[in-house]
Amino acid sequence: MSERSIDELADAIRRRLDATEQWALEVSRNERGEVAPGGEHWQWVCDEHDVVATPQPGVDELLETGECGNGCYRFSLRSVEKYVDTGSMYPSPLPHFVLTTEEVPSVVAGYLLRFPPARVLADAARDRNMLARLLAEPHGRECDNVAYDDPCECGRDERVLGYLRLLAGVDETEAAG
Ligand SMILES: [Zn+2]
Ligand SMILES: [Zn+2]
Repeated sequence: MSERSIDELADAIRRRLDATEQWALEVSRNERGEVAPGGEHWQWVCDEHDVVATPQPGVDELLETGECGNGCYRFSLRSVEKYVDTGSMYPSPLPHFVLTTEEVPSVVAGYLLRFPPARVLADAARDRNMLARLLAEPHGRECDNVAYDDPCECGRDERVLGYLRLLAGVDETEAAG
Protein backbone atom coordinates (compact mmCIF):
# COMPACT_ATOMS: atom_id res chain seq x y z
CA MET A 1 0.00 0.00 0.00
CA SER A 2 1.41 3.32 -0.99
CA GLU A 3 1.52 6.14 1.50
CA ARG A 4 -1.36 8.53 1.29
CA SER A 5 -0.69 12.20 0.68
CA ILE A 6 -1.80 15.07 2.87
CA ASP A 7 -4.66 15.81 0.45
CA GLU A 8 -5.83 12.18 0.37
CA LEU A 9 -5.77 11.89 4.14
CA ALA A 10 -7.61 15.20 4.52
CA ASP A 11 -10.27 14.02 2.04
CA ALA A 12 -10.69 10.71 3.88
CA ILE A 13 -11.11 12.56 7.19
CA ARG A 14 -13.67 14.95 5.66
CA ARG A 15 -15.69 12.07 4.16
CA ARG A 16 -15.80 10.29 7.51
CA LEU A 17 -16.87 13.48 9.30
CA ASP A 18 -19.54 14.18 6.65
CA ALA A 19 -21.05 10.72 7.16
CA THR A 20 -20.83 10.92 10.96
CA GLU A 21 -22.53 14.32 11.02
CA GLN A 22 -25.24 13.20 8.63
CA TRP A 23 -26.14 10.20 10.82
CA ALA A 24 -26.06 12.26 13.99
CA LEU A 25 -28.43 14.85 12.48
CA GLU A 26 -30.81 12.29 10.98
CA VAL A 27 -31.17 10.39 14.26
CA SER A 28 -31.95 13.75 15.92
CA ARG A 29 -34.87 14.37 13.54
CA ASN A 30 -38.25 14.18 15.26
CA GLU A 31 -41.59 13.01 13.82
CA ARG A 32 -42.16 16.34 12.06
CA GLY A 33 -38.67 16.46 10.62
CA GLU A 34 -37.35 19.03 13.10
CA VAL A 35 -33.76 18.81 14.30
CA ALA A 36 -32.45 20.35 17.50
CA PRO A 37 -29.63 22.76 16.62
CA GLY A 38 -26.36 21.04 17.47
CA GLY A 39 -28.07 17.65 17.81
CA GLU A 40 -29.93 16.07 20.69
CA HIS A 41 -28.97 14.93 24.14
CA TRP A 42 -30.68 11.71 25.18
CA GLN A 43 -32.13 10.06 28.26
CA TRP A 44 -34.01 6.85 29.09
CA VAL A 45 -37.45 7.42 30.59
CA CYS A 46 -39.98 4.83 31.79
CA ASP A 47 -43.12 5.23 29.75
CA GLU A 48 -45.62 4.68 32.51
CA HIS A 49 -44.32 7.21 35.05
CA ASP A 50 -42.06 9.49 32.98
CA VAL A 51 -39.19 8.79 35.38
CA VAL A 52 -35.63 9.08 34.10
CA ALA A 53 -33.65 5.85 34.45
CA THR A 54 -29.91 5.72 35.09
CA PRO A 55 -28.33 2.63 33.52
CA GLN A 56 -26.10 0.67 35.89
CA PRO A 57 -24.12 -1.84 33.84
CA GLY A 58 -22.57 -4.51 36.04
CA VAL A 59 -25.26 -3.95 38.67
CA ASP A 60 -28.51 -4.33 36.74
CA GLU A 61 -28.75 -6.64 33.77
CA LEU A 62 -31.80 -4.80 32.49
CA LEU A 63 -32.62 -1.12 32.68
CA GLU A 64 -34.67 -0.36 35.81
CA THR A 65 -36.11 2.73 37.40
CA GLY A 66 -35.32 2.56 41.10
CA GLU A 67 -36.92 5.97 41.51
CA CYS A 68 -40.44 5.03 40.55
CA GLY A 69 -40.08 1.56 42.11
CA ASN A 70 -42.74 0.05 39.94
CA GLY A 71 -40.71 -2.62 38.21
CA CYS A 72 -41.04 -0.82 34.91
CA TYR A 73 -39.75 -2.66 31.90
CA ARG A 74 -40.88 -0.43 29.05
CA PHE A 75 -38.67 2.54 28.28
CA SER A 76 -38.19 5.26 25.69
CA LEU A 77 -34.94 6.74 24.59
CA ARG A 78 -35.98 10.40 24.44
CA SER A 79 -34.35 13.69 23.60
CA VAL A 80 -33.72 15.99 26.55
CA GLU A 81 -34.66 18.80 24.13
CA LYS A 82 -38.38 19.49 23.84
CA TYR A 83 -40.21 20.45 20.66
CA VAL A 84 -43.44 22.42 20.34
CA ASP A 85 -45.96 21.25 17.75
CA THR A 86 -47.27 24.60 16.58
CA GLY A 87 -49.83 22.85 14.37
CA SER A 88 -51.51 21.25 17.37
CA MET A 89 -54.57 22.73 19.11
CA TYR A 90 -52.85 22.45 22.48
CA PRO A 91 -49.15 22.81 21.77
CA SER A 92 -47.11 21.51 24.67
CA PRO A 93 -43.39 20.82 24.41
CA LEU A 94 -42.62 17.14 23.83
CA PRO A 95 -39.35 15.27 23.50
CA HIS A 96 -38.37 13.34 20.41
CA PHE A 97 -39.08 9.65 21.04
CA VAL A 98 -36.01 8.06 19.48
CA LEU A 99 -36.74 4.49 20.49
CA THR A 100 -39.40 2.78 22.58
CA THR A 101 -38.74 -0.75 23.68
CA GLU A 102 -38.98 -3.39 26.39
CA GLU A 103 -36.24 -5.06 28.40
CA VAL A 104 -33.32 -2.82 27.51
CA PRO A 105 -29.96 -4.36 28.47
CA SER A 106 -28.45 -1.92 30.95
CA VAL A 107 -25.07 -1.97 29.24
CA VAL A 108 -26.60 -1.08 25.85
CA ALA A 109 -28.68 1.68 27.42
CA GLY A 110 -25.62 3.17 29.10
CA TYR A 111 -23.50 2.86 25.98
CA LEU A 112 -26.04 4.81 23.89
CA LEU A 113 -26.04 7.61 26.46
CA ARG A 114 -22.28 7.95 25.96
CA PHE A 115 -22.85 8.88 22.31
CA PRO A 116 -25.76 11.30 22.04
CA PRO A 117 -25.88 13.16 18.70
CA ALA A 118 -24.97 16.44 20.42
CA ARG A 119 -21.69 14.97 21.61
CA VAL A 120 -20.95 13.24 18.31
CA LEU A 121 -21.50 16.51 16.45
CA ALA A 122 -19.33 18.44 18.91
CA ASP A 123 -16.55 15.87 18.47
CA ALA A 124 -16.84 16.12 14.69
CA ALA A 125 -16.67 19.92 14.84
CA ARG A 126 -13.54 19.67 16.98
CA ASP A 127 -11.94 17.31 14.44
CA ARG A 128 -12.79 19.71 11.59
CA ASN A 129 -11.23 22.56 13.51
CA MET A 130 -8.11 20.47 14.13
CA LEU A 131 -7.93 19.50 10.45
CA ALA A 132 -8.19 23.14 9.32
CA ARG A 133 -5.46 24.23 11.74
CA LEU A 134 -3.10 21.45 10.64
CA LEU A 135 -3.58 22.24 6.95
CA ALA A 136 -2.92 25.92 7.66
CA GLU A 137 0.49 25.21 9.18
CA PRO A 138 3.09 27.29 7.30
CA HIS A 139 6.31 26.00 5.77
CA GLY A 140 9.66 27.08 7.14
CA ARG A 141 12.26 29.33 5.52
CA GLU A 142 13.93 26.38 3.71
CA CYS A 143 10.78 25.90 1.67
CA ASP A 144 10.00 29.55 0.96
CA ASN A 145 12.01 29.85 -2.24
CA VAL A 146 11.51 26.43 -3.82
CA ALA A 147 9.21 25.70 -6.75
CA TYR A 148 5.64 24.65 -6.06
CA ASP A 149 6.12 20.95 -6.87
CA ASP A 150 9.36 20.45 -4.96
CA PRO A 151 9.12 18.26 -1.88
CA CYS A 152 8.95 19.97 1.48
CA GLU A 153 12.36 20.29 3.11
CA CYS A 154 11.44 22.06 6.31
CA GLY A 155 9.72 19.11 7.99
CA ARG A 156 6.26 20.69 7.88
CA ASP A 157 4.71 18.11 5.52
CA GLU A 158 6.08 15.17 7.48
CA ARG A 159 4.83 16.66 10.74
CA VAL A 160 1.37 17.42 9.32
CA LEU A 161 1.15 13.92 7.79
CA GLY A 162 1.85 12.36 11.18
CA TYR A 163 -0.92 14.36 12.83
CA LEU A 164 -3.37 13.64 10.00
CA ARG A 165 -2.70 9.91 10.34
CA LEU A 166 -3.59 10.18 14.02
CA LEU A 167 -6.74 12.13 13.19
CA ALA A 168 -7.70 9.66 10.45
CA GLY A 169 -7.09 6.72 12.75
CA VAL A 170 -4.50 5.27 10.37
CA ASP A 171 -2.13 2.85 12.02
CA GLU A 172 1.49 4.02 11.72
CA THR A 173 2.63 0.62 10.43
CA GLU A 174 -0.17 0.67 7.86
CA ALA A 175 0.84 4.19 6.81
CA ALA A 176 4.45 3.11 6.38
CA GLY A 177 3.60 -0.14 4.57
ZN1 LIG B 1 -41.99 3.69 35.98
ZN1 LIG C 1 8.28 22.69 3.97
